[in-house]
Amino acid sequence: MAKIAVIADIHANYTALAAVLSASILEEGVPLLCAGDLVGYGPRPGAVIDRLSELGARCIRGNHDAAVAGDNSILKKLCWQAREVVLWTRKHLNRQQLRFLSSLPLSLKIGSWRCYHGSPRCPLFEYLETSAAVIKALQAEKDAAGLIVGHLHKPLCYRGSCSAELEMVKINYGEPVDYSGKRMVFNPGSVGQPRDGDPRASFAVLDTGEATVTWYRVEYDLQETMDRIRRANLPDSLAVRLASGL
Ligand code: ZN
Repeated sequence: MAKIAVIADIHANYTALAAVLSASILEEGVPLLCAGDLVGYGPRPGAVIDRLSELGARCIRGNHDAAVAGDNSILKKLCWQAREVVLWTRKHLNRQQLRFLSSLPLSLKIGSWRCYHGSPRCPLFEYLETSAAVIKALQAEKDAAGLIVGHLHKPLCYRGSCSAELEMVKINYGEPVDYSGKRMVFNPGSVGQPRDGDPRASFAVLDTGEATVTWYRVEYDLQETMDRIRRANLPDSLAVRLASGL
């Protein structure tokens, strides 16, 4: 396992997921890791779950996955649009798909890396964005080479020789970032609902042989997902935000 494709926050946007999976870099059947939030916000939750399970993707639980799987305390913490979609999603998944979501772990060990949706201290809810939060996360996982996270919906990379000397690395798509001899915390960005102003689907490839992480963006048929959101009578703002990538 030298290469692993890292995806997160698909949010039931199957069209975006399909575009990522057909990206030329993933053609040779690279193993998949999903850092949570397979469902929520989007119109095709069942298709996303079926595809990931068919591909044998390793997935962890995000806050929306937990809410759909029946955790009502999490449901209450979501905004009204997200709550409405969680309730709709529960009705549109079969028993097997719901069981898949319920079985997702809160974290995974990938070689010497650890994967969380949020962070080690708060696996479902913490946004790892500032260097202060990233330092605390690394301190909580002293034995890990690095952390893979989702939840933020933005590609992000911090790298350092020790947890107190972190640099935020500028991401250039398609250009590998070296982590040899360093600790790294990275977010692949969101497949199905990016919030960094770029509506294209985002993902990353971790190459443990070369000790690099490379980020990619791919276009997908936004209009198709927007139309499906509207046909399902889900909140219109969820369709609108896909076009702005915010
Ligand atoms: Zn999310």
